[in-house]
Amino acid sequence: MGLFSRRKTVFVDSDVLVIGGGMAGCGAVYESRYWGRDLKVVCVEKANIERSGAVAQGLYAINCYMGMQWDENQPEDHVRYARNDLMGLVREDLGYDIARHVDGTVHKFEEWGLPIMKDPETGRYLREGKWQIMIHGESYKPIVAEAARKAATEVYNRIMVTHLLMDKTKPNRVAGAVGFNVRTGDFYVFKAKSVIVSAGGASHIFKPRAVGEGMGRTWYAPWSSASAYALPIEVGAKMTQMENRIVLTRFKDGYGPVGAYFLHLKTYTQNAYGNEYESTWYEHTKSLVGDYVDRHPVPTCLRNHAMLEELKAGRGPIRMVTTEAFQDPHKETVGWENFLGMTIGQAVVWASQNIDPKHINPELTTSEPYVMGSHATCSGAWASGPEDYAPDDYQWGYNRMMTVDGLFGAGDTIGGTAHKFSSGSFTEGRIAGKAAVNYVADLGNEPPQVDEQEYRALEKTVFQPMENYAVGRNEIVAGTVSPSYLLPIHGLQRLEKIMDEYVGGISAHYTTNTPLLDRGLELLEMLKEDMNHMGAEDLHQLQRTWELHHRVLASESVTHHTMFREETRWPGYYYRADHPKLDDDNWHCFTLSRYDRESDSWEMEKAPVYHIVD
Ligand SMILES: Cc1cc2nc3c(=O)[nH]c(=O)nc-3n(C[C@H](O)[C@H](O)[C@H](O)COP(=O)(O)OP(=O)(O)OC[C@H]3O[C@@H](n4cnc5c(N)ncnc54)[C@H](O)[C@@H]3O)c2cc1C
Repeated sequence: MGLFSRRKTVFVDSDVLVIGGGMAGCGAVYESRYWGRDLKVVCVEKANIERSGAVAQGLYAINCYMGMQWDENQPEDHVRYARNDLMGLVREDLGYDIARHVDGTVHKFEEWGLPIMKDPETGRYLREGKWQIMIHGESYKPIVAEAARKAATEVYNRIMVTHLLMDKTKPNRVAGAVGFNVRTGDFYVFKAKSVIVSAGGASHIFKPRAVGEGMGRTWYAPWSSASAYALPIEVGAKMTQMENRIVLTRFKDGYGPVGAYFLHLKTYTQNAYGNEYESTWYEHTKSLVGDYVDRHPVPTCLRNHAMLEELKAGRGPIRMVTTEAFQDPHKETVGWENFLGMTIGQAVVWASQNIDPKHINPELTTSEPYVMGSHATCSGAWASGPEDYAPDDYQWGYNRMMTVDGLFGAGDTIGGTAHKFSSGSFTEGRIAGKAAVNYVADLGNEPPQVDEQEYRALEKTVFQPMENYAVGRNEIVAGTVSPSYLLPIHGLQRLEKIMDEYVGGISAHYTTNTPLLDRGLELLEMLKEDMNHMGAEDLHQLQRTWELHHRVLASESVTHHTMFREETRWPGYYYRADHPKLDDDNWHCFTLSRYDRESDSWEMEKAPVYHIVD
């Protein structure tokens, strides 16, 4: 212990503890303060909320806005849209709940100073597409963070939460969380009456296309490390649709987004020989998924599928036709600004590869898979729905409460609700915040108790990798490989390789089957055993270690879910080669899992999908 004898333990009391100060976390803090004027609302964030989360770099569009004030769309329309895109399977109660409140959220953003572009003729927000409005969004996150900072009792930046704490008086009730300061190494014990997990989704679960010197360049933020899933999974919260990983069609090498290009600039794709190709694959796709291919808009996964098939047929690369749109100087400006506002790396890649989209049609590619709950995908925790709208099967407590008492979630954390994006995630944070305040009010004088034995044991576990390193490094004769510990980067690459090769990553053409998944689970189990011997050179590596722990647990969940669903529901996201077709008779349902940490085992079940909106 000599090395860490100066480590402090800091105790923080809270009524509402928000883990992760991204879009959903900021929404949760803001709304908890509104309803809980006298409550202690604490936010804990592993980076700094000023520039943390998937919106850190800024955005160019808010992708979820109904426009009810102008009768542009109604919440029911959004439910239909999300349901269609997810091949029939969404939690319509949760989606409706977000859609009916999201406009109010966007109006607040504007009030707080976010510049939203206006249509000069109508005066309305300028639409990029049916659901998207365009913003000058480089400072989107600092604007939202300011509101959260003003609302919070305290924001603790630079603290990585590693574990949740459970109540010692009542089983299945949350009591707080522990973590460590990534700069000072102090150990933090957060005691809480309610906890809202809003820690984003997961990149670097599957091997990325960018490896070697390009490693870290992924579409999704590299710091999104699956804590949103691992924290609840470990304490037994049920998860849903974890198999529904997302694969994105993006500009090659820079992962620049294509939304503004398709929707606003009206660019389109073609194969290497200048031909349209989606219609080539229509009959084939119909034989796999039936009528879903006829829906409008064509589901995101099916558009990926057509592109993947065309590439397999040897007619790649697929290109985005930009040369026509870019002749219009306004569109050319929008095309570049789109990247400068949120993905500068794509502009740099084009410059470095001599690609001027005015004269050359840039290549597209499909990304490695990511796990998240707020984009065109809906992995996450199984949550109780709104009192006035959710069917009985979806309601066991407070809105957005998971199957663990007092544990709430929002944004990427919550499953079954695709297409909430930045504004919907903030809105869901608000919904969870309000519900958590109600939960705290109803607790009365029976608050949860943390168990000193539990958090002291966790303290030892959390810092053990630094001890392992301090001792084991003496055995190194050269390089970085030690016989007695595993470094986080080695563990990460091993995880990515397993997921890539066995669970449907890029090198397997997103394809897997039962024998592959079985073997994947065996290898993940071996990785988990070795994770007891992680070595962390410093606090930065300690953070990497715990991020890896979270990624591994989430990956196990993804693999079990992928195994359980015996169909290919979302071709273009992944393929079960042994069950190549969509099977509505048996699998028009949600998949649910529950992890039991005592026995290190997983239980799987089905839950019904209710279509509430016609
Ligand atoms: C590349 C990309 C482009 C996108 N483009 C758009 C767009 O154009 N328009 C749009 O509306 N939406 C867009 N989105 C979606 C939007 O960014 C997300 O829906 C939204 O950020 C999700 O909110 P969240 O709070 O769940 O996660 P995040 O905003 O990612 O926040 C998660 C937070 O948790 C913190 N955290 C993680 N783990 C821990 C831990 N263990 N301890 C403490 N803190 C932790 C993180 O640091 C982060 O601050 C995009 C997303 C991505 C990835």
